[in-house]
Amino acid sequence: MDDGALSFAKAAPMAFPFTPAVEAQTAPVWDKVKSRITPFEWRAHAPLIAEINRLKRKKNAVILAHNYMTPEIFHGVGDYVGDSLGLAREAARCDAAVIVQAGVHFMAETSKVLAPQKRVLIPDPLAGCSLASSITAEDVRMIKARYPGVPVVTYVNTTAEVKAETDICCTSANAVQVVEAAAAQWGTDRCILIPDEFLARNVARQTGVKIIAWAGRCEVHERFNAADIRELRAAYPGAEILAHPECPAEVIEASDFTGSTAAMTEFVARRRPAQVVMITECSMASNVQADSPETEFIGPCNLCPHMKRITLQNIYEALVHDRYEVVVDPAIIDRAAAAVQRMIDLPPPAQPARYDLVKARHHVDVEML
Ligand code: SF4
Repeated sequence: MDDGALSFAKAAPMAFPFTPAVEAQTAPVWDKVKSRITPFEWRAHAPLIAEINRLKRKKNAVILAHNYMTPEIFHGVGDYVGDSLGLAREAARCDAAVIVQAGVHFMAETSKVLAPQKRVLIPDPLAGCSLASSITAEDVRMIKARYPGVPVVTYVNTTAEVKAETDICCTSANAVQVVEAAAAQWGTDRCILIPDEFLARNVARQTGVKIIAWAGRCEVHERFNAADIRELRAAYPGAEILAHPECPAEVIEASDFTGSTAAMTEFVARRRPAQVVMITECSMASNVQADSPETEFIGPCNLCPHMKRITLQNIYEALVHDRYEVVVDPAIIDRAAAAVQRMIDLPPPAQPARYDLVKARHHVDVEML
């Protein structure tokens, strides 16, 4: 952080007035988010939204907003919204000169890896991730030395340095497909799937490939348990309960459907349930609700403190001060891009993976590293 940035960070946030012009310009967003944001809050958000959208046009910038961003960011300033891989693909596809990543640091790195010629900014460089920080490149080199000939599949929630050490990446939407393709290509019945232990355990229930796992956890999803689900079911007997595969297996067993954030969104859009419980980060339900007003969302959510570091105010500051640029060593970029590209080159799954229909009937315990 340079001195200028420090002195700016101490300054009071810039206040823009809520004028009739701002009100009219942001009215379509307000219509979407007013069930989740009070009029009082909106009068503070709307002028910043208008100003950020003006700055984006001026600077040829786009904002990639993750599903876990707050509704005023997701619906107000996000040009592309979705899961981490979808956002990285947009980073490569879009023709903007500047990308502002409204998400955590590993996501900004993935955007830089797939779009190295573009300037990638993250509004708060301390927006980390418990999964990404659970494993280092040195750890992966140690794992490879211990299991020669066994493919290493890495969840996208990792640093670029970790991706650079691995054979192929996966997301929660395609992890089963990637594990099976890697095992077939390497001619083995085993696969290393790192760093999320619960995702690895949930994948192991879906495949005959033996899984070797790392003890990384998402601090948001690991806190849910089966008792939470039983309590929710008793309180909302008609509700569909949707869980994320970073949750423990006991949560998946107690839920009605388990899939990635994209799969959950698709489930609600297609099935239009009257009542839904989303077992994931808090903002997910708020953002999906804006597009599915006829569904009632129950939110037993856990906040991700890293995602919540990103605010309208620091997005505005990122655009004004052209900060904080995400830099990745070019040698790392090439190797990390190869691991991501191997995943992209696989035929897309017919539909995002489900984790609640247990296919593996054998003993599905995983080997822990
Ligand atoms: S929700 Fe979990 S996986 Fe996502 S950024 Fe937060 S800690 Fe990391």
